[in-house]
Amino acid sequence: MTPVIALVGRPNVGKSTLFNRLTRSRDALVADFPGLTRDRKYGNGRLGDKPFTVIDTGGISGDEEGIDAAMAEQSLAAIDEADIVLFLVDARAGLNVADEAIANHLRVNQKKTWLVVNKTDGLEEHSAMADFWQLGLGDPWPIAAAHGRNVSRLIEEVLAPF
Ligand code: GDP
Ligand code: MG
Repeated sequence: MTPVIALVGRPNVGKSTLFNRLTRSRDALVADFPGLTRDRKYGNGRLGDKPFTVIDTGGISGDEEGIDAAMAEQSLAAIDEADIVLFLVDARAGLNVADEAIANHLRVNQKKTWLVVNKTDGLEEHSAMADFWQLGLGDPWPIAAAHGRNVSRLIEEVLAPF
């Protein structure tokens, strides 16, 4: 079975940039499923001989109160559909209350979750990661989706059990 990777996080952290990079392969197929899956975008990617499906989500705004409200419906649905969750945060913006709310949900979720710190281009990796350890989701993974930095290595690691 093809593993399904969901990209979640608040708006503007780089989810769609990562989605586009992961689905750029020749056989990428991006489709919307109106009605059924509004606001979720599905694409196919491949790393070496391993195919995967990736789901982009619109993002979870920090304006709502409480985790139920903060986790937008489509993000919860994407998590449900996924085997792997990539939780994206923004190294340039630093840790945010919305990130903490999302992390609280993901910590109790059964899905394998990876904490991905995007936009590390031009930043010193160790200090860029420092804030994010306290989310309690394990090792933060530095990437730069816009430039491809560390992206293949992350996906290779993520897909290893599949
Ligand atoms: P989304 O709302 O989470 O889907 O975020 P987007 O993919 O739309 O990206 C939001 C903004 O962050 C855009 O202006 C991107 O160009 C920028 N961005 C995404 N990835 C990177 C990155 O690796 N480095 C930098 N510096 N900017 C990035
Ligand atoms: Mg987006």
